[in-house]
Amino acid sequence: MSKEHPTKAVRVAIQRPLYKLLDYACDVDIQPKPGCRVKVSLGNSVITGIIVETDVESEFATLKPIIELIDESPVIDEKLMGLLHWSSSYYFHPLGEVLFHALPVDLRKGKSVPKVEIWNATSAGLELPKDELKRAPKQQAMLDYVIQKDGADANNLKQLLGDNWRNTSRELIKKELIAIEEIDPQKLTAPATHVFSVNPPHQLTEEQQQCLTDIDAHFNEPKLRPILLHGITGSGKTEVYLSVIAPILKAKKQVLVLIPEIGLTPQLLSRFRQYFPDSNIDCLHSGLADGERTRVWLGAKTGSIDIVIGTRSAVFTPLLNPGMILIDEEHDASFKQQEGFLYQGRDMAIKRAHDLGIPILLGSATPSLESLYNVEKERYHYLRLNNRPGASNPPDIALQDIRTLPLDAGISSLMMTDIRQHLDNNNQVMLFLNRRGFAPVLMCQDCGWHAVCSHCDMGMTYHASMGKVICHHCGYEERVKSTCPDCNSTKLTTQGQGTERIEEVLNTHFPETPVIRIDRDSTSRKGSLEEKLELVNSGEPVILIGTQMLTKGHDFPKLTLVGILDVDQALFSMDYRAHERLAQQVLQVAGRAGRGAAKGKVILQTSQPQHPMLLSLLSQGYANTAQQILNERKLWNYPPLGCQALVRVNALDLQLAHNFISTLGADLAAINSEKVMLLGPMPSPLARRAKRYRFQLLISAEKRGDLHGFLHSVLSIISKIRKTGGVRWVIDVDPVDF
Ligand code: ADP
Ligand code: ZN
Ligand code: ZN
Repeated sequence: MSKEHPTKAVRVAIQRPLYKLLDYACDVDIQPKPGCRVKVSLGNSVITGIIVETDVESEFATLKPIIELIDESPVIDEKLMGLLHWSSSYYFHPLGEVLFHALPVDLRKGKSVPKVEIWNATSAGLELPKDELKRAPKQQAMLDYVIQKDGADANNLKQLLGDNWRNTSRELIKKELIAIEEIDPQKLTAPATHVFSVNPPHQLTEEQQQCLTDIDAHFNEPKLRPILLHGITGSGKTEVYLSVIAPILKAKKQVLVLIPEIGLTPQLLSRFRQYFPDSNIDCLHSGLADGERTRVWLGAKTGSIDIVIGTRSAVFTPLLNPGMILIDEEHDASFKQQEGFLYQGRDMAIKRAHDLGIPILLGSATPSLESLYNVEKERYHYLRLNNRPGASNPPDIALQDIRTLPLDAGISSLMMTDIRQHLDNNNQVMLFLNRRGFAPVLMCQDCGWHAVCSHCDMGMTYHASMGKVICHHCGYEERVKSTCPDCNSTKLTTQGQGTERIEEVLNTHFPETPVIRIDRDSTSRKGSLEEKLELVNSGEPVILIGTQMLTKGHDFPKLTLVGILDVDQALFSMDYRAHERLAQQVLQVAGRAGRGAAKGKVILQTSQPQHPMLLSLLSQGYANTAQQILNERKLWNYPPLGCQALVRVNALDLQLAHNFISTLGADLAAINSEKVMLLGPMPSPLARRAKRYRFQLLISAEKRGDLHGFLHSVLSIISKIRKTGGVRWVIDVDPVDF
């Protein structure tokens, strides 16, 4: 192809694991901007790309042309583009994958950005005598509203009239009082002013008020620092958040709220909506249909949504007038993405707030050691809430030595007595066990066979309700037969227990009382979690059994007894984060007890009643225990003191994976840097998963700059090693799982 003279070149990122950008030619009459999507050809296919740079001097003489410019104006604005560039280089992840990750699924696929529909009064509508529609109050309200606002969008109207607002709209359109206008979102001017009011359910306590005053003062300092609000469970952090947000909304700015789990959105959403009756509040998470996600994304981008409440990836939500970011339960492990683009959502939010020059507030009852260390270094401002408002008091936590007690499915006889007593007093009980299924081991009594995942070489968990064994590492499942596959014996038996077994045992012990199991299996059907929570919220005496799904955020006023069944495993884990996580989990679970007027009691079953970590947690509380754990990490230079990255390699073929990482290991060892330490190559703790053999190489350094400098070498070396037989590798910066 001979190159026509007056063409320009643009540099495009595509959604592939590719550490380079592609140049394309572009006609002079199109006006590409960074952040706009294009259609380009790659090999034999046409794919979507995102323009990263324009007016490029390409080193290639002949370039393929752009096939189509999808967006007239950027779907990723300049500020967000800056953040994504930064995170691509911080996490050593290909820019294309990072950029696409930040878009809703529909837009990744190349669909055009939907037009924004605006409801306007027609001239007949404008001239309609006042109160003409008084027999149809909803229609009157809608008409008045669009006139007053000079046009309203779907988000506004849904907020005004509730979920069935489209019926009202239909009536008004039929009467030709209102018409819908479609507007290119990029041509929208700033959203019209709307009414703002607050409806606080309580007066803040003195302690909360103090916090609020302090936060406000810090938000107005010239040098903004993130604020960590460390408030015990039930101390009214959410109430403080709402008061902090109010002035931001009043100034017509938007607020981004990040939470760890979808399950928490409904209750938070309703609390926010109750507090800010006129504001547009919506949520963004993986449970939404693609179209819904695009709608909320666009609403945030065009400024019609005031508050976006979302899980991890919502950190990339575009905001027209960003005012503040809030991260609730900031310690939660789910802020770290574990697949694909491996980023830490909390850190990303902090970086984003910093870039935007807006305040950021982190809240938790059990802050992460990372955040506490940042407090120690005076990078964060630190605030405490030490009391629960009103009559509620923090529960008493006691260790129960189970070494000499009779156990039934892991529940001690003393625990059973306590359960009985709390139920008799018309209260609710919750048992916590972080293992779903019936039992972790299914085995043959005659020959010793046990169910093992053929894809991971790890034991499979028996799920009685489904009649299956399921691998909790890769999801592989098999029907359970009545006889042993090796010796045909019928003496199959289980060992250990999961939530299903506990449910069964409690049903026999307490046949009169509803036993409600809440875990991933029992809540997979849409709406089933809500049904179960409703039963709990009815206040009837019930026994709740749950995994970590239950630990977060829920408020059950009638719950007075919490039993924690399995702390022992974590006490001796190899993972240096195990103690931190255990301390957080224990206090979060414990925090569900005694939220109403009656005092709560928490029992921790353990065979290690003298374990220093448990003793410290119970007698000295979270802050002191966290400080001790931090001091231990200082001795070893573990994060958050030092920093780490993990190179993970896997392949279906053991030898190929091994060869690849050995080559890498040898090349890296030859670099001989004193500032970083290499550990490995070695098999990953889960050495085979989903049929793939896994190896890893851990890189640690005292200084972030040294680690990142070294990772540049890693990237350039690893990119040159020939990948045979589908070897995959990834660099995981600040890994949390090994
Ligand atoms: P957290 O977010 O710290 O777990 P919440 O904000 O959910 O705490 O508050 C716990 C409970 O206390 C809620 O039921 C809430 O309505 C109530 N509460 C919070 N602040 C006050 C207050 N100032 N006065 C009375 N009740 C309050
Ligand atoms: Zn057998
Ligand atoms: Zn498996």
